[in-house]
Amino acid sequence: MAHTCIHWFRKGLRLHDNPALMAALRDCKELYPVFILDPYLYNNTLVGINRWRFLIGCLKDLDCSLRKLNSRLFVVRGKPEEVFPKLFEKWKVTKLTYEYDTEPYSLSRDKTVTTLAKEHGVEVVYKISHTIHDMDRIIEENNGKAPLTYNRFRTILKAIGNPKKPIPAPAIEDTKDVKTPCSENHDKNDGIPTLEDLGHDTTTLGEEKFPGGEQEALRRLDENMARKDWVCKFEKPQTSPNSLSPSTTVLSPYVAFGCLSARTFWWRVTEVYQGKKHSEPPVSLHGQLLWREFYYAAGVGIPNFDKMEGNPVCTQVDWDTNPEYLAAWREARTGLPFIDAIMTQLRQEGWIHHLARHAVACFLTRGDLWINWEEGQKVFEYLLLDGDWALNAGNWQWLSASAFFHQYFRVYSPVAFGKKTDKNGDYIKKYLPLLKKFPAQYIYEPWKAPRSVQQAAGCIVGKDYPQPIVQHEVISKKNIQRMKLAYAKRSTDSAESPNESPSKKQGVKRKAKSVIDMLQKKDKKE
Ligand code: FAD
Repeated sequence: MAHTCIHWFRKGLRLHDNPALMAALRDCKELYPVFILDPYLYNNTLVGINRWRFLIGCLKDLDCSLRKLNSRLFVVRGKPEEVFPKLFEKWKVTKLTYEYDTEPYSLSRDKTVTTLAKEHGVEVVYKISHTIHDMDRIIEENNGKAPLTYNRFRTILKAIGNPKKPIPAPAIEDTKDVKTPCSENHDKNDGIPTLEDLGHDTTTLGEEKFPGGEQEALRRLDENMARKDWVCKFEKPQTSPNSLSPSTTVLSPYVAFGCLSARTFWWRVTEVYQGKKHSEPPVSLHGQLLWREFYYAAGVGIPNFDKMEGNPVCTQVDWDTNPEYLAAWREARTGLPFIDAIMTQLRQEGWIHHLARHAVACFLTRGDLWINWEEGQKVFEYLLLDGDWALNAGNWQWLSASAFFHQYFRVYSPVAFGKKTDKNGDYIKKYLPLLKKFPAQYIYEPWKAPRSVQQAAGCIVGKDYPQPIVQHEVISKKNIQRMKLAYAKRSTDSAESPNESPSKKQGVKRKAKSVIDMLQKKDKKE
């Protein structure tokens, strides 16, 4: 039987390595490629304007590629469970295809839609292609639990074997018998909205440094892979948080929206490595993609992964509620130029380097402001182009030493850390031009500059630029003690109810040192 099929684009906004799309084209007479602007995922309080712009770029690019296959993209607004029954009837749909998505909301949404599809006699086909590996298989191989350490994770992967090779994008021959019936009013009724249509004030928008879309993703991948020596020598800790142009690939927004297949990325790196000496995980480019898989597996296997409460691997910490501090951090007015420059770059461009994320995340949580990592997670989700549920939650837990990483006594200094790779403070000058006339000696600590220097720089601290909201040397020591207590309580709690211990509950031997070992270790600062 020839099908009338909806291919539901959600993430996976691409034609290459899209097995669910290929499944849609099999025995197909009519194809409806659909993207749903689901108000639960896409609303203006969750998603900032830069990410909206990126998404619209992805949809335009997708529509453009579909046109080359004599098809079009239909953008539909509404809740999927309300939209689909109408579309099934309107188009007399017999098959629905989509890429598997492991986020909790997506799983429950897809379950509901699958039930509705079956009620309408619609066959459902889904394929795994957002991650390199099948997350359920990883968890199964690890006795039903998410691996809690990278090493354990890699051991499981070794047992599973090499990832599948990506498949090519459909060619015009694959769609020669397939039609996409479109009305003359397609653009008006089912076309891609503009930012203005979505209620955004575009006058505040900055330069579009990272345009969305599959073509740009593949171009960027080619550009990065052409630097063979760089790819082979890539070691993440050696890259810089504050270089003026990015020191890593900035492929994350493309991978997050699925404009770039992670499998394609993986195999392209493998090709570059062929016959050459190269770096290894966890620091290599392959290693970075494995971190992504690691956090995806954690997001699948650990309940309440994006929360502190009810999350069995997350240390319970008595974070403060401090709206003033949180707003100062979010709005880049902490009075600490390195932190404020990073938060400005994030707000303006939607991407910051991994180690810059380390600096501001540590500062917000255990380092200085003692605010719950969930608050930082929300701000990142809103501002990052690459906002990704599992990666965001996992990395915030790491940085706040709530899970995965336990050396809470290693705190990033908001002054010394940036200086390591940018003595002159050029990065600060770029993002905080107000401070650009400060001599290098004071650029990281302008409050220490004599009044005459501040006057000469045309910026008086306390008037034109804020005084630091915290004294790092004092507050970070106090916070290490608070963290010590949280860890001590964690070990008492798990001693009282051993079955509740995060590590035991996951059935995985922890690589990290025991709490006792850590408490005995001399407090160190980075
Ligand atoms: P590269 O170094 O070029 O790495 C290649 C790819 O590997 C990336 O595109 C990304 O898909 C993956 N990757 C790299 N580092 C990590 C990592 N630590 N964890 C998981 N995957 C990784 N990344 C997101 O994509 N979305 C998020 O919401 C997100 N939130 C974060 C929150 C915090 C507090 C921190 C510390 C990190 C977060 N990261 C997140 C991880 C990481 O910072 C970014 O993936 C990376 O900086 C993206 O830049 P890149 O593409 O140049 O990375």
